[in-house]
Amino acid sequence: MIELRNIVKRFGETTVLNDINVAIAEGTVTALVGPSGGGKSTLLRCINLLEIPTSGTLLLGGESLTFRPGHRPGWPAIQAIRRQTGMVFQNFQLFPHRTAIENVMEGPLTVLNWPKDKARQRAGELLEKVGLSQKADAWPSTLSGGQQQRVAIARALAMSPRVLLCDEPTSALDPELALEVVDVLSRLADEGTTMVIATHDLRLASRIARNVVFLEGGLVVETGPSQQIFTNPAQERTKRFVSSIT
Ligand code: ATP
Ligand code: MG
Repeated sequence: MIELRNIVKRFGETTVLNDINVAIAEGTVTALVGPSGGGKSTLLRCINLLEIPTSGTLLLGGESLTFRPGHRPGWPAIQAIRRQTGMVFQNFQLFPHRTAIENVMEGPLTVLNWPKDKARQRAGELLEKVGLSQKADAWPSTLSGGQQQRVAIARALAMSPRVLLCDEPTSALDPELALEVVDVLSRLADEGTTMVIATHDLRLASRIARNVVFLEGGLVVETGPSQQIFTNPAQERTKRFVSSIT
């Protein structure tokens, strides 16, 4: 279970997340949707502590961390949470001077101190899972965007995270390449990978997510099973948003 309790994030005077309460069950996929600037990326970054919440409590895999204004938690506490997360970014962010398989091996080698053989074997399995065995020795610059994103997903999985956080994983891709990535995420979802996906792509959200959180202006406007949010939302605002896109 991942739980955000009363999470607030301010940048100076601006409140970007305003008392967020969200619970995510293990083995489920949650989509964060809503208009640009609503706080989706910030919420994801507050889960892996790329941003430190201003206040509130974050529970993740038995770890619990409470935040207070003006107080930064110690590095071990941040690490204990961060180690349980993997992140996939819109623009892939692969290491350009490492091959595909070296990108996937990097975390296990440097963070977990795995021996090279073990890291290579695991990375090979993960590249197979994302359908890229044949590209193991390719440089990122020679891969399509969809292939780069699939390497990025394999790299995030290499650390066996409790939750995979994806920020607009398909936004930089044309529809065909986006579909490759959606297929991979969909397979991971079927295998019970816990994921939180911020996305503008409601098709992606409705295909993969069990639950949806609709965020606007730093507030959770509505949350519920994706079936319900996409077909019969309770809030007028959600209705308008969903109908504007479908
Ligand atoms: P998009 O759909 O465009 O990706 P989003 O829902 O992911 O939007 P965020 O990127 O989380 O939204 O941004 C929410 C708000 O927080 C925006 O108003 C943004 O300008 C502000 N914000 C984000 N990061 C910072 C920062 N480091 N400093 C100041 N303001 C920030
Ligand atoms: Mg964003």
